[in-house]
Amino acid sequence: MSEFNKQTKLLSTSENDLQTAAKIFKNGGLVCIPTETVYGLGANALNEEAVKNIFKAKGRAGDNPLIVHISKFDDIKPLVKNISKKAEILAQSFWPGPLTMIFEKSNIIPDAVTCGMDTVAIRMPSHPVARKIIEKSGLPIAAPSANISGGVSPVTAEHCFADLKGRVDGVVDGGECEVGLESTVILMVGDKPRLLRPGFVTAEQICEKIGEIIIDDAILNPIGKGQKVLSPGMKYKHYSPSAKVIIIDADDEKYYSYVNQAEGENIFALCYDEDVAHINKKCLTLGRHNDNKSAANRLFYNLHQFDLLGAKTVFARLPKTDGVGLAVVNRLLRSAGFEVIKL
Ligand code: AMP
Ligand code: MG
Repeated sequence: MSEFNKQTKLLSTSENDLQTAAKIFKNGGLVCIPTETVYGLGANALNEEAVKNIFKAKGRAGDNPLIVHISKFDDIKPLVKNISKKAEILAQSFWPGPLTMIFEKSNIIPDAVTCGMDTVAIRMPSHPVARKIIEKSGLPIAAPSANISGGVSPVTAEHCFADLKGRVDGVVDGGECEVGLESTVILMVGDKPRLLRPGFVTAEQICEKIGEIIIDDAILNPIGKGQKVLSPGMKYKHYSPSAKVIIIDADDEKYYSYVNQAEGENIFALCYDEDVAHINKKCLTLGRHNDNKSAANRLFYNLHQFDLLGAKTVFARLPKTDGVGLAVVNRLLRSAGFEVIKL
């Protein structure tokens, strides 16, 4: 019999169902919960067995640590050794919200959460449902994205169900995630804060609050063989739909002509609203050109749609890397396995 034969409950956002979700956490179970970034696959971060079950349910590599979620600032204190002035400023500025900070961990964080690292990633989500469940459980909740590892992060309860039915005890349906991309991750240990993963809170916004930060090389470049990575998650294949995604780095005319001339079955374009009239293939759009927030919000949703539509090849436009665009390009590069055609 399969190891994954749980009765996965579909939970609403009623007080009663949120209480049920919190109770599952207290009992060491797994629940997918909506956050403003993507859906998280949560468990009690202080329960080593429960945390190990997150890795099993996702098929996540054993060296890729988890983010711990809290519902109020004071809850961070027992989890970390030291909170720098800069970290305090970032917490005041962006929490609750889509920013994860990495600190030296305290002894109560089990090794299973951090994969043996001496640092721990902490975030306070702004989604009211996530916050209520965490608060009701009275626990810090470890939660990576609620998908099978390697696939596209879930932005609806249906996406969670499609991947994790039978593997988790419950899925709380809180509708579509507002941001649609995972949190910004910044390492607050060491001389200078270092951006490890771009997200909706941008590098520019962070610099405005705390001055210079380092942008890690791995954000826009593939990791070389044997290269040391500061954020283990960056070395794994990520966000891949069934279709082959190829990024086209070109101006409008060259992009149109490349896509229009392409031959084969089920070819799609991932482009902007303004492009659709010029393209003879089926299109899903990231919104209007230069609207990076809309692109962030629609990227994962569209990657899921390509699977539902049976897409074989997707030719994606390369967004600009300013503001939230850096996060969109970072995820798109990984979903395309860094395959970029420059015209
Ligand atoms: P996920 O929750 O699946 O979106 O992934 C969390 C991301 O944060 C992954 O890229 C992890 O490698 C990264 N992360 C979590 N904890 C740490 C840590 N202590 N040090 C560096 N990166 C971390
Ligand atoms: Mg993930």
